[in-house]
Amino acid sequence: MALSMPPADRCPFCDYLAGLHPVTVLEQGEQVAILVTREQRGQGHVLVIPIAHRPTVIDVAPAEEQQLMNAVRRAARAIAAVYDPGGIAVWQNNGVPAHQTVPHVHFHVAGTLPEGGTRSGEVPRLDHRRDRQASQPSSLSGPAWG
Ligand SMILES: [Zn+2]
Repeated sequence: MALSMPPADRCPFCDYLAGLHPVTVLEQGEQVAILVTREQRGQGHVLVIPIAHRPTVIDVAPAEEQQLMNAVRRAARAIAAVYDPGGIAVWQNNGVPAHQTVPHVHFHVAGTLPEGGTRSGEVPRLDHRRDRQASQPSSLSGPAWG
């Protein structure tokens, strides 16, 4: 049975990567990117995505698997270094019944809130209008991204 996917005329993540919409890109390599999500649900909340459009985790190419996991780890290390949260949540949803809203596979990585857990439901949205950053891998060579 095929997963029930959210409808989308265009993929917002592919549009972000193409520079069609403003977004804060922490890292963009050949296979994966780390973006700051507008919907901050924790202390530091980023999305790890493959550069290629892959609807769900089932569609990830073998060559991308390790790159994605490595990027999740880098994101978690950076969040730990910057926010020093008590915990770090990593989650990933596939299909509408799992509450996937953007049909491009993405791993959420977020530091937990001081009271524990992460925010659900509606959250204030970050404004990325002036925030697109260079995506030089070398820009992440600091200790937080080691
Ligand atoms: Zn896409």
